Amino acid sequence: MSGSVVVAGLGPGRETLVTPEVEAALAEATDVVGYIPYVARVAPRAGLVLHPSDNRVELDRSRHALEMAATGRKVVVVSSGDPGVFAMASAVFEALEAGPVAWRALEIRVLPGITAMLAAAAAAGAPLGHDFCAINLSDNLKPWALIEKRLRLAAEADFAMAFYNPRSKSRPEGFARTLEVLNETCRDARPVLFARAVSTPEQSLRIVPLPECTPEMADMRTMVIVGNSATRVIEGPAGLWLYTPRSA
Ligand code: SAH
Repeated sequence: MSGSVVVAGLGPGRETLVTPEVEAALAEATDVVGYIPYVARVAPRAGLVLHPSDNRVELDRSRHALEMAATGRKVVVVSSGDPGVFAMASAVFEALEAGPVAWRALEIRVLPGITAMLAAAAAAGAPLGHDFCAINLSDNLKPWALIEKRLRLAAEADFAMAFYNPRSKSRPEGFARTLEVLNETCRDARPVLFARAVSTPEQSLRIVPLPECTPEMADMRTMVIVGNSATRVIEGPAGLWLYTPRSA
């Protein structure tokens, strides 16, 4: 079999944040598979077939990629940010594990990308400069009770926290509950970053003390970063810097 599956991260949005190795993989691909808006970021060219698909069909998409690779195609599966962070890389391995044994002989590579959390943190300063955790607030693939347990324990352990998928139209109440849990557990006015559409022309950054945060401040294009108890703000020429000291 000479086909391959490359699972690639396209970064948070800006062209210059796509890594050279991802660009090289796309230049050699015969097929690109992924969620519609991510496939739309790949320039069409002769000899390249684009296979955009809807959200929430990650396993079908992964099987399709592996099937095509088994016939000799060079398939790139695209994710935004990093493909291993709440994205396609795990779905591809899930499909591989459940699929025909012949797929195990395929060449598979995962190419990292700049995840939204790191792009958002960098845009605001250094809020993740000490111990931190990342939590996906979507309860599509896990029960809400588990999210709430992790939130509470992370806040108790004084981790800074980065939230992916904070709030969608189909799940408006989850982020409101998140803010309640954080206020109950943290009991202070630590700064919270709402970083929307980071590294795109629509980028906006907002820093709000925890008790003043409201659910409407986040949507599905927002990364929310909650500081730890030592996180602080400094005034800069174009707004506030947010940073977490390197000591506990
Ligand atoms: N694999 C992606 C994350 C997919 S989950 C990555 O590594 O970045 C999708 C969530 O990521 C969104 O709901 C949002 O919370 C966050 N996100 C992705 N791109 C973003 C951007 N440019 N700015 C802010 N948040 C972003």
